[in-house]
Amino acid sequence: MYNDTIAAIATPPGEGGIGTVRLSGPGAAEMLARLFVLHSGKQKKAGEIESHKLMLGYITDPANGERVDEVLAVLMRAPHSYTREDVVEIDCHGGTVPLQRVLGLCLREGARLAQPGEFTLRAFLNGRLDLAQAEAVLDVVQARTERGLGLAVEQLRGGVSSRVSVIRARLLHALAHLEATIDFPEDDVPTADVSPELGDALQEIRALIASAGTGIVLRQGVRTALVGRPNVGKSSLLNALLRADRAIVTAIPGTTRDTLEEVANVRGVPLVITDTAGLRRAGTTDDPIEKIGMERTRRALVEADLVVMVFDGSEPLTLEDCAVIEQSKAKPQAACVAALNKSDLPMRMEVAELQRKLGDIPVVDTSAEVPEGTAKLEAKLAEAALRGKVAPAKGEGIVTSLRHRDALQRAEEHVAAALEGAVGGFAAAFIAVDLHSALNALGEITGETVGEDLLDEIFRNFCIGK
Ligand code: GDP
Repeated sequence: MYNDTIAAIATPPGEGGIGTVRLSGPGAAEMLARLFVLHSGKQKKAGEIESHKLMLGYITDPANGERVDEVLAVLMRAPHSYTREDVVEIDCHGGTVPLQRVLGLCLREGARLAQPGEFTLRAFLNGRLDLAQAEAVLDVVQARTERGLGLAVEQLRGGVSSRVSVIRARLLHALAHLEATIDFPEDDVPTADVSPELGDALQEIRALIASAGTGIVLRQGVRTALVGRPNVGKSSLLNALLRADRAIVTAIPGTTRDTLEEVANVRGVPLVITDTAGLRRAGTTDDPIEKIGMERTRRALVEADLVVMVFDGSEPLTLEDCAVIEQSKAKPQAACVAALNKSDLPMRMEVAELQRKLGDIPVVDTSAEVPEGTAKLEAKLAEAALRGKVAPAKGEGIVTSLRHRDALQRAEEHVAAALEGAVGGFAAAFIAVDLHSALNALGEITGETVGEDLLDEIFRNFCIGK
């Protein structure tokens, strides 16, 4: 447990209906008692404040009695709180000034400004959440689709952690058997055959790794490039895809450039589409159009895992279209779908004709101009994004993070080596080394074996107040 009390504004910056200041730590109740005055004018002592009871009143400045804001405040006494410490939440009127004033008073009363993710870090360090669950908190906040949210909530509930714990328990059991042989060699204990147990553990680890394919796509989204010569309808299709489920569409800042990335929720799969429309007109006067088109395509292709080639079906195939095909095919590791757009117009290119040219790349007709004109495309995109990936059973914790997959892959290597040793009749001590390494790798997921650096890195991504 910590001996300091942290404070932060837990709601996003800007004006809103309400804004919350949150406190956690041993001083939280005392601070609330000093700052909070009930409507009746009565001020409760820290010990008199009832836990988990919402109170209406004023935050007042103890220095001069000034009423700073009318608020709803609640104290959640340890251990029945988010952090397992005393937690106070003060719901203010949601504006920058009242929130800053209330926070300022808390700091003056001795609280320290919280670091990003520090409330959740405390929840982890105080044992309320394991590390995978703590990470899931951020995933819930940042979920891009309902399916992504479902996976995050499952991870928060402990779905992934419990599957990892089962594997750890198996390995610990095997290790105990082996160590008995190591510790009492004179008792002539025969080396236990741990290979069935290790075989099971290996299978379970591999199942979790397999689940990561889908899980990572559903959490992080698939980098998608819309490519095609100018005027085939890329921007229009992008808008149509975004419209398909406007409610959950978000714009996130691009990680590698200054452009905005749009996240389209396509049948529950987040497609992170880099909007290359902005590059379209750059330099058109000086350079031949083809050259710009090629350059734009090249750039979009570099990062993409899913490529959507767009063609204008109301015109015959052009040389430039062929160049786009060549360029896209030069990136075989990305999944590819072709959209024959403007199907609402009289068509001068048929799906079958384009299909012959594209081989096994699926071709669908689309229209950005009519309702449901992108339905077939959406189905193909969702399919292509999850292609070859194992579909998780409902309600089963699946791996959604690269960090977890990496740890599982290291565990897999060590368990495979241990199994080989067990089958080959190697010395117990030898097998035990691999099992220790595997246990350490698995412990990184749930946080049993994790260094401060890694914790810093994980919680740095949280917002302040979470
Ligand atoms: P981009 O240069 O590939 O991004 O193409 P735009 O999305 O800017 O579209 C070029 C032109 O084609 C615009 O005038 C659009 O309104 C039109 N357009 C795009 N998609 C369709 C479609 O499906 N049907 C029809 N009739 N016109 C379209």
